[in-house]
Amino acid sequence: MLELVNIRKVYKTENFEQVALDGVNIAFRKSEFVSILGPSGSGKTTCLNIIGGLDRYTSGDLKINGRSSTSFKAEDWDAYRNNTVGFIFQNYNLISHLPVIDNVEMGMTLSGVNSTERRNRAKEVLIKVGLEAHLYKKPNQLSGGQMQRVAIARALANNPEIILADEPTGALDTETSVQIMELIKEIAREKLVIMVTHNPELAEEYSDRIIQFSDGRIKNDSNPYEEIERSNDYQLKRTSMSFLTALKSSGRNVITKKWRTGLTAFASSVGIIGVALVLALSNGFSEKISEYESQMLSGYPITINNGKVNSIPTQPVLVDSEEDKAYSNKESIIAYNAKEESSRQKIHENVFSFEYIDYVNGIDKEYINGISTTRSVSLPILKTEDNVATKLNMNNVSFTTYPVSDHDSDSTAYLEKNFDLLEGSFPSKETDLLLVVDEYNRIEETTLKELGFSRKEISLKDVIGTEYKLLPNDLYYIKSGDTFAVNGNPVDLSNLYKNEKGKTLKISGVIRLKEDAAVSKLPSGIVYSDQLSQDFIAKAQESEIVKVQESVDYNVLTGELLSEETGSNQTTKDNMLSMLGASSIPTSISIYPMNLDAKDSIKSYLDKWNDKVSEDKKIEYSDMASMMTSMIGSIVDMISYVLIAFASISLVVSMIMIGIIVYVSVLERTKEIGILRALGARTKDISRLFNAETFIIGAASGIIGVGITYLLTIPINKIIYHLTDFDNVAHLNPLHAGILIALSIVLTLIGGFLPSKMAAKKDPVTALRSE
Ligand code: ADP
Ligand code: MG
Repeated sequence: MLELVNIRKVYKTENFEQVALDGVNIAFRKSEFVSILGPSGSGKTTCLNIIGGLDRYTSGDLKINGRSSTSFKAEDWDAYRNNTVGFIFQNYNLISHLPVIDNVEMGMTLSGVNSTERRNRAKEVLIKVGLEAHLYKKPNQLSGGQMQRVAIARALANNPEIILADEPTGALDTETSVQIMELIKEIAREKLVIMVTHNPELAEEYSDRIIQFSDGRIKNDSNPYEEIERSNDYQLKRTSMSFLTALKSSGRNVITKKWRTGLTAFASSVGIIGVALVLALSNGFSEKISEYESQMLSGYPITINNGKVNSIPTQPVLVDSEEDKAYSNKESIIAYNAKEESSRQKIHENVFSFEYIDYVNGIDKEYINGISTTRSVSLPILKTEDNVATKLNMNNVSFTTYPVSDHDSDSTAYLEKNFDLLEGSFPSKETDLLLVVDEYNRIEETTLKELGFSRKEISLKDVIGTEYKLLPNDLYYIKSGDTFAVNGNPVDLSNLYKNEKGKTLKISGVIRLKEDAAVSKLPSGIVYSDQLSQDFIAKAQESEIVKVQESVDYNVLTGELLSEETGSNQTTKDNMLSMLGASSIPTSISIYPMNLDAKDSIKSYLDKWNDKVSEDKKIEYSDMASMMTSMIGSIVDMISYVLIAFASISLVVSMIMIGIIVYVSVLERTKEIGILRALGARTKDISRLFNAETFIIGAASGIIGVGITYLLTIPINKIIYHLTDFDNVAHLNPLHAGILIALSIVLTLIGGFLPSKMAAKKDPVTALRSE
């Protein structure tokens, strides 16, 4: 059955070698009761541990059913311990947090026997050792004799061929010892039992054979076995414990320490809560921002300005050298050229061409809610008060063209969508004007006065139908010598007012921005159709003043010389011409997109122009709404990253904490690790057990963290609503919640990895000896 051939065991300690076994040769029969006697330190336990595969021999061979074990791998030894050997220890070595029946089942659990069979066999052996009344008790609720019976039942449970007992009665009183010996003798009828004892009387009385040890050698063998066994095929069934079994087993261990586990999980969930809250909030804020953006769309158009692009103003960079920095102590003033400066700063200048205007007009009408064009033409408009005509001072009234949905007709869809008509009607002709009031129905008093209303409060009805006269250039400007003058004589103006060449403009309605519409770009004052200014421009190009202005270098109204530089504060010829209505190129175009997607389409359409033209013909547009929202968005993102970084620190802290907890758990369960190894657990099973434990803690902390976050969002949302009127801002994305739980599991597994590796590496003999 079992043969020790010249076994030597040498323990190497730091500076000397201890020979525990010195050439031991024994052969055992298939079934017999062998007692090993000998003084303390003579190598009995060492011999038993080597026979049981708990400890490795230094040299020699252990033959099992004739098969040499020299080539055994770690897994083979684990399997050997699991299927072939049953251990009974002096101090019982039961797993204290498991009930009796589970202790007995453990060996079978490790070898992957299914749960019903496990339970049945465990009950069977427990009945055999006389413990049917104590199946579900914990070991510490039993007497010493009963505990040793549990150990015997556990040794028998996997039906091994060899039972090894190391002083099984050493801790028991005489009477109980006798009972245990009877039980072991009974077992020895069909199995090989090898028992180490201090008690020669018990050995004499019960065993079939007594081997005396002394100084690691056999001094005497009462009944040696000389037959030589032929080698036959000895098959080992490898053990296999599933992760699920490990999880269940660890689950039970975790439950016995529920307070500690609970607190640990809670403490490590703090990091998860932190990250989850930040995610929930930044998520919510980003959503609110994009909601806000789409609301603002109607109010904030994409604007394209003719001339220098209004980018963020940069400090003039005077000199590049190191010494001349900003805010220096220099005691002099330095002149710089604005033009050179702006070319150095690469300020782009948009130059509108007819092609570009056509290109802009080519935008798919589906995307556009409205387009408004601003021209710098100053319309010569007259008003009458008590039959006295005066000219309107354009500096006091804002005259803006209203956005149109379809560029070729004067459709008022944009106005109707965004404005309430307080009185009158929306424009039906190009000569119809609208008066825009603010949300309090107010208009600035100089504007009102300029428009001919000198009272503080005017009824809406009185405003409707108010007429003005738009004069052609030829009537308005009078030539005198080389220059032109504006006719300021009230009598002449009153006559001009009646001239048929003038165009009658009429206020057709009063409008106000809708309450639910977002900010509008239309200022309060007069809005009119772009068609009116286009008609005016067409005629103005034929007027005399324009023709003269085109041919001379001086301002035809003042006689001053015109500047040649564009972009300076002085008036240029181009400025003059467009002021007189000779240029049909607008100074700015505002495009109001239908929705967010349409805005992107319009932008990419505008970008396409820049792709195909040379650098100086590129046109830059600005999109205030997305500039603002992306600025807010990136601030929110930045804050979120910082907060997540802080919260992540607590995640790392909790990871380390889990590592410590598992380490403590490993220390605490050292004995259990030894027991499990004695029962045939592989190193893999041990690390699995601890990994299962960290998995449980990690999952628990993730779930607790996410759960608490969901609860916290309720009061947080109440507070935010109270402060900002934003409803339901904090909400955790379920995907994020899932990821966080997974992250928590992964981090705790990492934290517990080293300790559980350490547990797996523990030497079973040392582990068993620990208290
Ligand atoms: P017994 O069980 O007969 O009392 P052991 O087999 O436990 O004796 O010990 C045999 C000898 O080997 C003793 O001298 C003991 O000190 C030594 N020994 C046992 N285990 C170790 C070990 N892990 N490291 C060093 N020496 C050991
Ligand atoms: Mg011993």
